[in-house]
Amino acid sequence: MSADREAELLAGVPDGLFIGGVWRGSSDGTTFDVGDPSTGEVIRTIASASVADGTAALDAACDAFKSWSRTPSRERAELLRRAFDLLTERREEFALLMTLEMGKPLAEARGEVTYGGEFLRWFSEEAAHVQGRYGANPEGTGRMIVSQHPVGPCYLITPWNFPLAMATRKIAPALAAGCTVVVKPAALTPLTTLYFAKLLADAGLPAGVVNVITTSHSGDVSDAIIADPRLRKLSFTGSTEVGRKLLAQAANGVLRTSMELGGNAPFVVFEDADLDKAVDGAIAAKFRNIGQACTAANRFIVHSSVAEEFAQRVTERVRGFRTGRGTEDGVTIGPLIDDRAVAKASELVADAVSRGATVRAGGHPIDRPGTFYEATVVSDVQPGSDILREEIFGPVLAITTFAEEDEAVAIANDTEYGLVSYVYTQNLARGQRMIERLATGMMGLNLGVLSNAAAPFGGWKLSGLGREGGAEGIHEYLQTKYTLTPNPFA
Ligand code: NAP
Repeated sequence: MSADREAELLAGVPDGLFIGGVWRGSSDGTTFDVGDPSTGEVIRTIASASVADGTAALDAACDAFKSWSRTPSRERAELLRRAFDLLTERREEFALLMTLEMGKPLAEARGEVTYGGEFLRWFSEEAAHVQGRYGANPEGTGRMIVSQHPVGPCYLITPWNFPLAMATRKIAPALAAGCTVVVKPAALTPLTTLYFAKLLADAGLPAGVVNVITTSHSGDVSDAIIADPRLRKLSFTGSTEVGRKLLAQAANGVLRTSMELGGNAPFVVFEDADLDKAVDGAIAAKFRNIGQACTAANRFIVHSSVAEEFAQRVTERVRGFRTGRGTEDGVTIGPLIDDRAVAKASELVADAVSRGATVRAGGHPIDRPGTFYEATVVSDVQPGSDILREEIFGPVLAITTFAEEDEAVAIANDTEYGLVSYVYTQNLARGQRMIERLATGMMGLNLGVLSNAAAPFGGWKLSGLGREGGAEGIHEYLQTKYTLTPNPFA
């Protein structure tokens, strides 16, 4: 990958706020730096929105809502479809940009462009299919009309780990429903969202329908937007800790909320599993995005009769990984997002080892520029270890064992999170029992990757509220009205 190509791409990324269809600097002139986690170098300096800029973005979204909410759904659909086509054309640019600001290997970044683009296509298809109902009331005295309406201006907050897909997963259904939005990407990875706003403008998006604010003080800027009575919806993807705080703030305005929060996914391998497939699934569920996915398998709960073979086989695979800058050919593991992430992986492994776990591969930060941690396998992880309770968010595969199905279920459900679970078994009845017994919003049954724009993504328990994608996704941005009229024959 040539340095010239990277420089040319970065120079083409807007460095301002996108408010009311106009690119501009922040009102107080402040900026912040965006770095490349694989080198530690600054790659772009961009505007840092003030509280006043956040309010200006909401002003623009409120103005645009008047016309966008009345724009025929077919027109909204066609705009999303044009955005999908443009994203497909610009796939390599978006993939490289994500690799530069977030660190994921280029092949995975391309996969994210495909996944992120699918939300544009899916919701372009859903936009014109929102239906109401008409029918007689049971008494026969009236006619009941049930109609759907856009909720209003929305505030969308996205995390750094999937800079494109987490934005399109919110923006596409909001626009399809007739809502306008203010988007705030994470300060660590704002460039992809800015570049996507440029794409939307190129696709013909009317001014003010999507506004993007980047800021180095997300708390203050967000507090003011969430407290504004004109805002009607808050959609957040990020940690449970921040999600809880935002939910409390949203309570004041009784806002509609969607919360896609943290996970602690169990990956259960039964003695009757197809071990080849379980190993493939484990590698995908654990190491995709360098382990930094809310859906990442966090706890490998493996039947004691196959645990040693499973551990040996995943260790062999991990030893074959290539770690490096995501732009280099053949790299499978890029850097972690920052020093804190490296420190967390180190602490969790050290705690597990101090309680009796064995390191089979990796286990250390890598001494090179950037924030790298070795792809790691730890087996014999003992109950009570922090690594079984906390979201690892790094390339560490932790194995613990069980003897009976009931025990596997108890271990898997022993978490406050409930986003996703993975189960490997060839026994159909057992697979069906697991669907009913594991307390998660999603399950991969004999599969290690399950995200799909056509499916309702979301969690139970502390993993969140609401669903993104699927037929459900657009309803997060719609509100229902029931109207009663007299029986026209009475
Ligand atoms: P985070 O620290 O909670 O940040 C997420 C977003 O919230 C960022 O845009 C961040 O902006 C912003 N933010 C932080 N504090 C805020 C505040 N006080 N007010 C308003 N906004 C605030 O999470 P993260 O570290 O970026 O992401 C990792 C977490 O996201 C993990 O727990 C992961 O499981 C979860 N996640 C969940 C899903 C899902 O669909 N369930 C998907 C992806 C990730 P700044 O960083 O600029 O402050």
